[in-house]
Amino acid sequence: MHDFLPFAYFQNQFVPFEKANISIATHALHYGTAAFGGLRGIPNPENPEQVLLFRLDRHCKRLSLSAKFLHHDLPADKIQQIIIDFVKKNKPTKPFYIRPLVYSSGLGIAPRLHNIEKDFFVYGLEMGEYLSADGISCRISSWYRQEDRSFPLRGKISAAYITSALAKTEAVESGFDEAILMNSQGKVCEATGMNIFIVRNGQLITPGFEQDILEGITRDSVIKVAQDLGITVIERAVDKTELFIADEVFLCGTAAKISPVNRIENYSLPQERPITDKLREKITAITLNQDPKYKDWVFIIDLN
Ligand code: PMP
Repeated sequence: MHDFLPFAYFQNQFVPFEKANISIATHALHYGTAAFGGLRGIPNPENPEQVLLFRLDRHCKRLSLSAKFLHHDLPADKIQQIIIDFVKKNKPTKPFYIRPLVYSSGLGIAPRLHNIEKDFFVYGLEMGEYLSADGISCRISSWYRQEDRSFPLRGKISAAYITSALAKTEAVESGFDEAILMNSQGKVCEATGMNIFIVRNGQLITPGFEQDILEGITRDSVIKVAQDLGITVIERAVDKTELFIADEVFLCGTAAKISPVNRIENYSLPQERPITDKLREKITAITLNQDPKYKDWVFIIDLN
């Protein structure tokens, strides 16, 4: 069971988390007409009266664009203000995760986006490590990521996560920690809630936006930090066989942070991961606001 933060933002006000409930006839529940975000926050190690949120503006922007696919106008600055108020209301004291969700809240039958009420809520929970930092095993999923021609993959649309759910359970039930999905072209796409990077010959390689990936915010951060460290970053189609012979492979996402991969199917990967380790260390320092160069990425909220 999760430790939920005490207050949720629900129907335009803050209410105790247990009171934020919806009807069984809610449209989004039946048709997946919802989109969500996910942000991590931590108490400021330097000042317990403050909380640090990583790349708040980017998360709000992406959710606002996801809402657009649902035909709902939800400006990024409005989301941002609600999230700030949410954090101030909850005053978290441990690392936490914020889940904002926009959805078709109307009660109605028939899938559509027009003529159906929309709403927006936010809740949060305490969150430590999501995947092991020591290295995880991955299965190549028998499920393929959706295609952009049938699904707006640049949004975090709830309905898309049935594929992630199928892939994750398939992986876990067959003895792996996580799944790597291919796209409809048979190229490497991403994991169930993380983007993927490989290292070969000192270069960092990751599938480009045209490979049907989610436009991950951690992915964007990794690319910028790697470039600043002088590492060559190449965004291109990646073949499955490259995974097996890579020098390093890691997954990255808000919840998972940077998760090294130590085995893919029946192929072991090298134990030494100098580039993954370097990036992981750097990104951790940035999220703790300990790197002056990236202070713009850390939003500070005063709790009092
Ligand atoms: N891909 C998918 C399918 C995801 O759900 C996530 C998590 N939001 C990511 C990639 C990573 O995105 P981010 O770094 O923005 O959390």
